[in-house]
Amino acid sequence: MDSNIIDLRSDTVTLPDDAMREAMASSPIGDDVYEEDPTAKSLERTLSQMAGHETGLFFPTGTQSNLVALLTHCQRGEEYIVGQEAHTYKYEAGGAAVLGSIQPQPIELDADGTMPLAKIKKAIKADDFHFARTRLLALENTTAGKIIPLSYVAEAKELTRQHGMRFHLDGARAFNAAVGLGVSLEKVTQPFDSVSICLSKGLGAPVGSVLLGNEEFIHQAKRWRKMVGGGMRQIGMLAGAGLYAIENNVDRLLEDHKLAAQLAERLLDVDGLIVHGNQSNTNMVYLSASDDDGAAFHQWCAERGLKFGGRNPARLVIHRHITEADIVQAADIIRSYFENK
Ligand SMILES: *Cc1c(COP(=O)(O)O)cnc(C)c1O
Repeated sequence: MDSNIIDLRSDTVTLPDDAMREAMASSPIGDDVYEEDPTAKSLERTLSQMAGHETGLFFPTGTQSNLVALLTHCQRGEEYIVGQEAHTYKYEAGGAAVLGSIQPQPIELDADGTMPLAKIKKAIKADDFHFARTRLLALENTTAGKIIPLSYVAEAKELTRQHGMRFHLDGARAFNAAVGLGVSLEKVTQPFDSVSICLSKGLGAPVGSVLLGNEEFIHQAKRWRKMVGGGMRQIGMLAGAGLYAIENNVDRLLEDHKLAAQLAERLLDVDGLIVHGNQSNTNMVYLSASDDDGAAFHQWCAERGLKFGGRNPARLVIHRHITEADIVQAADIIRSYFENK
């Protein structure tokens, strides 16, 4: 990584370090389509135990893992209720609709990242031939860096049980939620029928996600994974990175959360800058230049070596390559834009 650039575009930019590369190189491997890759099995077993699920399945990406979850839960002509800004609705190229003929029913999120339960309830359709069948509720935790409260998850689950619906978690950053709450992963992931977890975000693996659920669900998911081209061969080298990540890189996520809080703190008094955020924030900071579209602000920062995503709001994501000195420098660059405007 270019040491002059502070790259806050995403926690996906993290690179495997020497120890992770060694773990990858020394992982036992076999053909996983023949179910003979010991490291993939070990990762699936380890993560499913940590998450309170029966079993798991390795995927190349979180997008494919979420897609397969939706395809497994919902048949053609059924629908899933999902957040308006959720990855499984907005950032997966419409895969569920295109490949599964599954209708999304998006719901506007509240400021805390939750979908109001009353709105979900209203969106659940009656058994009437005019309507798609409401089959699934999909949550995301963390969402936009915010931790969804466990009490909310319990209430949402109750609603799904009352209406015979399935319950999926896009837990791309479920470990950030667990670490942020100071609870085990299981507390965050166990309430769901299925969970997708990313290894390639803050955990630092180069690729990989794992889908978790019961034996029957994962058995069906395996056929869908094959169909969408996700059946891979000697994946032990990739799964080995994931195993290393969940054994070594989970607790340190708290460092990312602390630095994100420090960055937000340093910017609170900048005139003309809005720092979005709340107590449940993890490794992301959202900023708006209050009186424009954010393009000039973005360019100013980019020219000074600070990269981030989004415009208004801008999204700054903290990860394991970011130091306290980077945070000080990032805050100075941001401040300088508003002082020179
Ligand atoms: C990154 C991410 C995914 C999966 O993305 P891939 O790049 O396909 O691995 C899913 N959901 C959320 C919330 C994410 O941030």
